[in-house]
Amino acid sequence: MPATLEDYVAEARSTGRVANLPTQSHIAGKSIPTNSDKHTDAIEIFDPGRGEVFAQVCSAGEEEVEQAVAAARNAFRNSSRSSSRSSWGDSAPAERATILFRAANLLEQEAARFAVVECLDAGKTLAQAQGDIASCINTLRFYAGATDKVFGNTVPLGKDYIAFTMLEPVGVSLHITPWNYPLVTLLRGVAPALAAGCCVICKPAEQTPLSALMLADLLTRAGLPHGACNVVVGTGEGAGAMLARHAGIDHITFTGSVETGKLVLHAAAESVTHTTMELGGKSPVVVLADCDQAAALEGALYAIFENAGQICSAGSRLVIEKSIHEPFLERLVERAKSLSFGHGLRNPHIGAIATREQRDKIERYIKDAQNRGLVPCVGGNAATDPETRKGWFFEPTVLDKLDARDPIVQEEIFGPVLAVQVAEDAQEAFALADDTRYGLYAGIYTQNIDRALGLARDLQVGQVTINEYFAGGIALPFGGNRLSGFGREKGLEGLANYCSVKSVAAKIS
Ligand code: NAP
Repeated sequence: MPATLEDYVAEARSTGRVANLPTQSHIAGKSIPTNSDKHTDAIEIFDPGRGEVFAQVCSAGEEEVEQAVAAARNAFRNSSRSSSRSSWGDSAPAERATILFRAANLLEQEAARFAVVECLDAGKTLAQAQGDIASCINTLRFYAGATDKVFGNTVPLGKDYIAFTMLEPVGVSLHITPWNYPLVTLLRGVAPALAAGCCVICKPAEQTPLSALMLADLLTRAGLPHGACNVVVGTGEGAGAMLARHAGIDHITFTGSVETGKLVLHAAAESVTHTTMELGGKSPVVVLADCDQAAALEGALYAIFENAGQICSAGSRLVIEKSIHEPFLERLVERAKSLSFGHGLRNPHIGAIATREQRDKIERYIKDAQNRGLVPCVGGNAATDPETRKGWFFEPTVLDKLDARDPIVQEEIFGPVLAVQVAEDAQEAFALADDTRYGLYAGIYTQNIDRALGLARDLQVGQVTINEYFAGGIALPFGGNRLSGFGREKGLEGLANYCSVKSVAAKIS
């Protein structure tokens, strides 16, 4: 009998581990023992809910980077014109669909194990981790169904010509991802890339590489040709930087901070590599006086405290009309006080902060704010799991009546910290909402459809949700403007990243 979710949770709670976790980079269909003479470094993987090591992986270096690029290039175009076996780049869309659907089914069967691993690796609550895996299954199915819907156009050049465009896979894509949604973020790039016929190299965050390695193994078992999906586990400055500047890479999908994104853009420039940049955010939840306040309250809490605020599109600013500010804030603070936090396996409202460095960074932001004379209405402290006194946590925190130029308003903190800005009226609320250098996401709560759509039209962000923060799913494109990056993932736009347009024109005599 396959192990159930309860079995995995019980094992993880009693031993602090999950058995048989991968330990090495996955290249050309198998785990690659790292050349120990040259790369003795092991990367320790921490369970942030306990602040203790629960796994170890070998850190890859130049040799593994070269192997991964060679494997991906070979899988993309392994056949000479005379060969009978087609490469992944030349495979039929139906074949790619079959393998991706099979992978979705396998992930569904193995969802419990993936969820518990994600829970330990990234500090997530079990419910959040289960939601992540469900969304990954949807992603695989969405792009499996899209493999044969990659259409070109006919182009009218006049009656003496037949002209059309055809879409071809761009080649080998590199996926560099952060630690907050390890599998979700990876798959929203890897699934469309594979669907388009690209071969991929993944460089997951060194703190959370386990689900990426498990995914590569799962894809191999689903029938993906060896080399079509490779995972290089290593540091950002090491393996990540080497891959980003490698001439064998045709497209880079980078998700992470603005600072690292700039480094990757510089590296990509060396080979003129096309990039998609998914960077940070400082997104507003705009609450107008005419809204359904109960829905807005729950929406605002969800927007900032889901995944302990470690979401690029977190609603980290509440922009609220003055006439409802005081009673709304009172209820918000009460609800924030009632939220439990602790180890994700116990399924509290809020899980851990994924790394100690990140927890310390959040703490520094709050200490600096306190030094400027600001006092949190609730929270404000780094914490441990109340049951075990271990782990890296941060109390749900709210700072009220902030000036538009305050660092808490302007800078991405990436934790459970809500900045409240009070607006005289709807017009000022709109102006405040747009007043950061980021442009990722915005939510609005109002019953006035003109105002809602007016905000959707005017804000310089990639997506707007009305009366439900985080509304959407894999079919809805996602991405940012300004410092939040460029390009779109998810939806059919996400597939376009991995397709190159070729124009063909024929003169008819
Ligand atoms: P990060 O430090 O920028 O790291 C992201 C990835 O880049 C990691 O895999 C990292 O590897 C790698 N990396 C580091 N230096 C590199 C280099 N010189 N060359 C190539 N790769 C390099 O980001 P993070 O702190 O992990 O994640 C938090 C950030 O991600 C936040 O700013 C958040 O907003 C952003 N994010 C954006 C989105 C979005 O869709 N817009 C989604 C999620 C997160 P190592 O881990 O080994 O250092």
